[in-house]
Amino acid sequence: MKFNPNARLDTSQVQDRRGGGGGDGGGGFGGIPGGKGGLAVGGGGLGLIAVIVIVLISSWGGGGASSGTAGLIEGTSGNGTVNNGQLENACKTGTDASTSQDCAAVAVINSVQDYWTDAFAASNSTYRGADTVFFSGSTRTGCGTGSAGMGPFYCPADQQVYIDLSFWDELRTTFGANDAPFTQAYVLAHEYGHHVQNLLGTNGRVGTATGATSGSVRLELQADCYAGVWANRATTVPGADGQVLITEITDADLANAIDTAGKIGDDYIQSKVSGRRVDPSQFSHGSSAQRQKWFITGYRSGDPSSCNTFDTNNLG
Ligand SMILES: [Zn+2]
Repeated sequence: MKFNPNARLDTSQVQDRRGGGGGDGGGGFGGIPGGKGGLAVGGGGLGLIAVIVIVLISSWGGGGASSGTAGLIEGTSGNGTVNNGQLENACKTGTDASTSQDCAAVAVINSVQDYWTDAFAASNSTYRGADTVFFSGSTRTGCGTGSAGMGPFYCPADQQVYIDLSFWDELRTTFGANDAPFTQAYVLAHEYGHHVQNLLGTNGRVGTATGATSGSVRLELQADCYAGVWANRATTVPGADGQVLITEITDADLANAIDTAGKIGDDYIQSKVSGRRVDPSQFSHGSSAQRQKWFITGYRSGDPSSCNTFDTNNLG
């Protein structure tokens, strides 16, 4: 993946909460005051670490999803404090994205949102942006306390993506996957796929059930597909300054993302990471083959309408 050295990065789409002794929020790693249900998804031996992308189903749909959550965020000190100064200084252009993981994440977030802004506009709709929160250890979210062990996740209640960037190490150490730059891009684009689903109301079609053909699996595979759609369009979509942010995605980049998609599939995690029997009734994100298939489907089509995981009997 190559970044356009001249393209401007927009750090305002990120909230950096890592500074100032980051992470010890006292919130407790286990407690999810807001919406427990969804966070248990994919439990298994690895616990929450197994879940790369946690969708907080329980906070969707019903009324009062965000009741009381504003206070949780705003009232917080320490782990809730945003300080973007360092990012603003470090991440100005695509050149910075080429040399810094933090800046690469900013660039990808910018590119993904540039794409969806265009895609929504093309269907006479308006894309509402979502910030990504960089945190360290744990942080308050509209969905309860978020912790590093959960992996990256999207919180529908506050419409933000959360990631402790140590997850990139986790990909290698826990999952035996790669954390190549484009793999990281895939993970971020997947989370923004959930934001798109939230904007479109797709998540209203999903309950809390797990299983190979469950709504949860369909939702996750669609997010993988949306990530693939972005990957198709990433090298053509202009940023706010009119410049394309990402100038090249190679076959090797795609292979890295697809390999990682396979290593965060439910069957792979159950058998290879957790050392258990494969149990499709507990699937929440889809099998390795399915996750790969839907990412590739999106990539080949470059069209969100190809991501029809809710309308097919053939999930792969
Ligand atoms: Zn997900």
